[in-house]
Amino acid sequence: MRTIGLIGGMSWESTAEYYRLLNELTRERLGGLHSARIVLYSVDFAEIERLQVAGDWAEAGRVLGAAARSLEAAGADLLLICTNTMHKVADEVQAVTSVPLLHLADATADAVRAAGAKRIGLLGTAFTMEQDFYRGRLAGHGLDVLVPDEAGRALVHRVIYEELCLGVVRDASRAAYQEVIAGLVAAGAEGVVLGCTEIELLIGAEDSPVPVFPTARLHAEAAVREALRDGMS
Ligand code: GLU
Repeated sequence: MRTIGLIGGMSWESTAEYYRLLNELTRERLGGLHSARIVLYSVDFAEIERLQVAGDWAEAGRVLGAAARSLEAAGADLLLICTNTMHKVADEVQAVTSVPLLHLADATADAVRAAGAKRIGLLGTAFTMEQDFYRGRLAGHGLDVLVPDEAGRALVHRVIYEELCLGVVRDASRAAYQEVIAGLVAAGAEGVVLGCTEIELLIGAEDSPVPVFPTARLHAEAAVREALRDGMS
């Protein structure tokens, strides 16, 4: 079994989910008392959020790169950045370590394509919905990506930072997200990528008329497949 290195804490609410999912999925595959081999580097999210707002992606890349090197030194065989947004600096992180990074958008696109969807809605932070690092990566897999209108994007972004990253899950916000999803479906979305690792704490399959793609779960599934590839022990 390979050791999975997590660059987490963005926010820890979803990193805790990653930890649970990786262990559950490993137990499902191997049975008994098996659990995942994991090393975790958990950052102070307030520092990262400040850099996001300041647009200082270079410094954010250095912080996450240093985390990746710590995980390499701790024995990680593969790396996950446990947030869609911070894949903005995925190339910078990969550049400073020889440990392969399992890109979240690739794991997501594989699942979308396996489900037979092509035109998908994308919910996430404003960075993820509006910039090319994530949309472009999905488009590179042949997907046609739709995002909410400006008001919808502002709502989705606000709920992530002001509620979900603080562990607050509100029915009113779920209803508001459902309206945004309805708009995406009306525009032709065949599925919706929950492109922020906290959104699946709020929205599940039952909240959407089309399939949803929960990125933390999909990332964890891909990681366990990779960790257990060619050999079960
Ligand atoms: N976890 C979130 C994501 O998947 C947002 C927090 C962040 O800005 O990293 O994008």
